[in-house]
Amino acid sequence: PVTLDLARLQQWMTRFAAVAEQNKAYLTALDSAIGDADHGTNMARGSAAVLAKLEASPPSTMGELGKTAGMTLVSAVGGSAGPLYGTFFLRLGASIGDAAELDAATLAAALRAGVEGIVARGKAEAGDKTMVDAWLPALAAMDEAVASGASLVDALAAARDAAAAGRDATEPLVARKGRASYLGERSAGHIDPGAASTALLLDALAEVAAA
Ligand code: ADP
Ligand code: MG
Ligand code: MG
Repeated sequence: PVTLDLARLQQWMTRFAAVAEQNKAYLTALDSAIGDADHGTNMARGSAAVLAKLEASPPSTMGELGKTAGMTLVSAVGGSAGPLYGTFFLRLGASIGDAAELDAATLAAALRAGVEGIVARGKAEAGDKTMVDAWLPALAAMDEAVASGASLVDALAAARDAAAAGRDATEPLVARKGRASYLGERSAGHIDPGAASTALLLDALAEVAAA
């Protein structure tokens, strides 16, 4: 479609919960190499909790959906990723507000607001080997696509591809934030788990937008 609405954002959450469940072992394997082997369970549990909460208290706007998802992730998932993704969705929802539809430009702005929340909370910069290394190229690709007049679907496909490239580019990096930073040089040679889950989240969004 040309725009996203509340039903599509609901589908995004449903799709992400399925993808997180399917990729639980993969994300946990990445986290077992440079962390504490819980990223898969954190994301699967968190996204399932979001779905349950959305079902129990259905939001009437996309802004409310972001707020519900964010508050649920902050409270349901301990550690780093829950509060970081929670902040992302809280800021995304605040940016969307009462809008009934999102076009490529307003969605790009909402995603950027969400990522600014991640950065405000976690203080990671580009190259620190975190989820931010998937988000920043995705935002840049999305903005470039919007500026060149691409459709929403094509802009999200570009963001998805850039996030996947950003994820892969974390492999040689030495972690400077989060648990992996405790390993120092030994964190090099492994993909960052949070960058991998961000790529999955954007893959789910590109998929529901194109459906
Ligand atoms: P924990 O490390 O507390 O067990 P998770 O395993 O669920 O939490 O999430 C780990 C991921 O969180 C990392 O792979 C990284 O992408 C992300 N992360 C950790 N700290 C930060 C930070 N300060 N800023 C951005 N992302 C971070
Ligand atoms: Mg972990
Ligand atoms: Mg943990």
